[in-house]
Order: sequence, then structure tokens, then C-alpha cells
Amino acid sequence: METLDTTHSSVRQPEDVVTYIRTRKPREVNPAAGPVYVSGAEPGDTLVVEILDVKLDDFGSLRIMPGRLGVLTAEMNVPHCRIVRIEGGRAVFSPSISFPVRPMVGVIATTPAEGEANTADPTDVGSNLDHNDVTVGTKVYLPVHVPGALFGLGDLHASMGDAEVTGNGIEIGGCTTVRVELLKGRHWPRPWLETAESWITTGSAASIEDAVQVAVRDMVDFLAERLAVSREDAYMLVSARGDVRLGQACRGMDATARVLFPKLPVR
Ligand code: CA
Ligand code: CA
Repeated sequence: METLDTTHSSVRQPEDVVTYIRTRKPREVNPAAGPVYVSGAEPGDTLVVEILDVKLDDFGSLRIMPGRLGVLTAEMNVPHCRIVRIEGGRAVFSPSISFPVRPMVGVIATTPAEGEANTADPTDVGSNLDHNDVTVGTKVYLPVHVPGALFGLGDLHASMGDAEVTGNGIEIGGCTTVRVELLKGRHWPRPWLETAESWITTGSAASIEDAVQVAVRDMVDFLAERLAVSREDAYMLVSARGDVRLGQACRGMDATARVLFPKLPVR
């Protein structure tokens, strides 16, 4: 699935950011590819999307957009932009500073039963989750609410710190290869992820605190079923070994959180 960066490729040099900020439509960010109709998918199923490969374009951009987004938006009040080239698997921030890329998929979703999943928002069908674990090797479990699932993804980042503090990671276009699989008649209320090591639940809400609560509650329910324990035991297990991490948690957007728990074998 080929996708453009969040600016629809309109920021190609640092000077472009001024026009971009002036003309940016907040509801038209993070263009996604799709929707893809998955034969046989029906409401009540789960679509499992495995990320097989992410090929990044040659450059992406980092930005500060005063008054729009960001943890320090009140004190960082001049627009800034840096074009970041991708060379030999590294993100080149400046002639003296580079680091290995950490590609991830920011937007991934199915279609809700009613209305739309806007690519600016994190929702219970996915979309702008910005979880760093949505990367090569991860399976993303998405609820199916409409025939065909109508699945899409986009908003690649060459690297994004947890919380995406300015509101932008290294925003970049590219090509994502996925394999989809259907779990018939299995349904979870929200997206969750599976990596080689962990089960990961997700939560989205207006505040970080509420997003954490949603993800923790889902992990409690998940472990109660998977490990065949009470909800109280599951809650204590999450406290003992579950790790809460942030997805997107800059000001100006809803927050996303996730809980990682190791895939313990059941004896
Ligand atoms: Ca995003
Ligand atoms: Ca982004």
C-alpha cells in the first residue's frame, strides 16, 4: 500500500512549511491508502493485519507548528521545519546528527458501523493511533463493523518518539506490505496488537489518563480470558508486569496509550 506523508508531499524544503501551516486542513492530514474490501469479512469478525515490510521514501520532514500541536506549543512559537534524508537506513537530522530509522505505521483502521474514521483521530476502529509497535512483524487486530471490513493505512514515520511531542514524527511517504487474515466470529471492542514477545492493548481518549484507563481495562479483560484468571488477578498481573506506553500524546489531538504484557504460556 503506497502512501504519501501527512502533508500530501507539499513540504519538500524547509521554506514550504509556512504555506503548509497556512493552508493545512486539520481534517485532511495523514492520507491513507484504501479502503480495501476484504472478501468474506462481516460485522462481528476480526481483521488481522500483519505488517510484513515498510519501505520508506528518500526523505521526510519534522516540523514545529506553533499554536496547533505540541507539548510546548506555548513557548515554541516560531514555525520550524527540517527535511530529514534517509540514507543507508539512517535518518540524517543534520550533518553531525543521525540515527537508525525506526519505521512505523501511524494510521491503521477498519471502517466504523456508522459515520467515518477520520485519519486525524484515534478511534475504537483504529486510525491515528501512532503506536510505535505498529511496525514490521506486528499483527494488528482490528474489529470488523461493515461488510468487507474496508481497511486502510498510512501516516508512515521514519522515526517517531513515543508521545510524538511536537505533533510530528519524521513524516514520510512509502510503501507498506501487509498480509490480511480473517478471524471469523471473534470480536474485540478495540484494536490490539501482537508482537513476537507481547500482547498489546490500546486505548484512545481526550486525556492521557483516560486513554491509559481504557488500555488497562482491555488488558485486564484480555488476560482474564487468555490466562483463565479472575479480573482481580489480571489487574494485579498488569500492575506487576504490564508496561504502559504512550502513542500520540501531544496537545491538540486525542491521546493514545497502550499496555504491553509478555505472552506467558498457559500451563
Ligand atoms: Ca499520526
Ligand atoms: Ca504523524
